[in-house]
Amino acid sequence: MSGIVIIGGGASGLLVAVNLLRKSESCQITLVEPNEALGQGVAYSTNDSEHLLNVPAGRMSGLVEEPKSLCEWADVDENTFISRRDYGRYLKHLLDQELSRTNSGRFQHLKARALEIRRGASGYEVQLDSGTSVSAEKVVLALGNSDSIVPEFFKGLPVNSQIVRDVWLEGFTSDFSKVAIIGTGLTFYDIVLSILRENPDAVIHGISRNGLLPSPHLRHRAPALPVPEEARVSAQGIRDYLSSVGDKWREAQDGIRHDLQEIWAAFPETEKKIFFNQYFRWWNSLRHRSAPEIDEQIKGAIQTGSIVIHKAGVDSISFEKSKLALKLSNGSDLRVEQVINCCGNQFVATHPLITQLVDSRFLSRGPLGFGVACDAKTLALKDAQGKTHEGIYGIGPILVGELLETTAIPEIRVEAELVARELLRT
Ligand SMILES: Cc1cc2nc3c(=O)[nH]c(=O)nc-3n(C[C@H](O)[C@H](O)[C@H](O)COP(=O)(O)OP(=O)(O)OC[C@H]3O[C@@H](n4cnc5c(N)ncnc54)[C@H](O)[C@@H]3O)c2cc1C
Repeated sequence: MSGIVIIGGGASGLLVAVNLLRKSESCQITLVEPNEALGQGVAYSTNDSEHLLNVPAGRMSGLVEEPKSLCEWADVDENTFISRRDYGRYLKHLLDQELSRTNSGRFQHLKARALEIRRGASGYEVQLDSGTSVSAEKVVLALGNSDSIVPEFFKGLPVNSQIVRDVWLEGFTSDFSKVAIIGTGLTFYDIVLSILRENPDAVIHGISRNGLLPSPHLRHRAPALPVPEEARVSAQGIRDYLSSVGDKWREAQDGIRHDLQEIWAAFPETEKKIFFNQYFRWWNSLRHRSAPEIDEQIKGAIQTGSIVIHKAGVDSISFEKSKLALKLSNGSDLRVEQVINCCGNQFVATHPLITQLVDSRFLSRGPLGFGVACDAKTLALKDAQGKTHEGIYGIGPILVGELLETTAIPEIRVEAELVARELLRT
């Protein structure tokens, strides 16, 4: 069966399929995803009902044309933070809904991993790990996040439940009472709350160089502010503007975020470097906000001493008998029973399929070497000569170099609609 092949069945791949099914009554769609469940990926496969979305329901619709779709499905108001588990169910519902009203033979899910893409008779040939291949007129890469950033000091440490290098891949046990977590972003919040629920007497050390914690959302979201010209032209301009608006920083940042893909695309390489190297951590600590109820729990645990935040780097970790000894860059020493890495994902695309496609010059890496290169207006991917492929598109985290903000649903739903339109247009 030739048609459109979407590689990756997380939220991004599923939303491209949903948009195609809504926009066309005839296109054939093959979704290549090794996992049985579609739409979940790392973010929405959690079974912990207390892992909440970090964006209110009013901004998490999967459909550009129906901004209230999630609120209606979940029967909640726009300021509610629903669980990520329920969000996964909502995404599945969007697909099921489309399949129930169309000829479901137009859609197939191949449980396989794509290993290679070659030019073929009808466009492309996608080689699968099952030993077979699938023909495609057009292909969408929706491969999700790259591997986690694993700091150097993890090298040489044994592989056991006391050392968690990639918390989403490996999972973790909450049996330990003294834990150090490297990284203090939203993943840190998830893990801390899970540990403290299982083990209320645990003491958790959160360690990061800037010591910054995610900021809370307001209980009632205010509209985004228009972006002034001076915040469009340079990294410093963004910093100065956000620093000048006082407690309206959320509304100001929401405005910039809305236009950030455009602002980023217009930045010269030097400005991109400055923003990324000097301001991106700060941007993220403001941008990755937590639900207010989660923020209260975390602040409460800091007050009671269950969480201790260290503004420092980690110089080394070593085993001392059954304990782990951490030397921090501020001179302190810690003794803990478990170390969990929550440093987030790499921006360089580490997916084996992308490595293969870049090595064969079929694709090229994006600005600053991050993700893959694409035409920012159509999301068509570019080859090593900078020439745009007519039939290969990307979506989601693999476009981070070109778009910067491209990992969350408010951006992904727009990209999914755009990619579907482009696929059907040409
Ligand atoms: C813990 C966590 C919480 C988050 N919370 C929020 C939130 O509250 N709000 C929000 O807007 N965003 C949130 N995000 C951002 C989230 O990444 C996106 O919302 C979304 O899940 C990304 O979807 P994706 O499909 O691009 O990637 P993924 O979910 O990573 O899916 C990629 C899929 O591609 C498949 N794949 C990879 N390689 C191949 C291959 N070669 N062949 C076939 N299949 C392949 C994988 O199996 C995977 O299923 C969160 C992210 C995380 C990690």
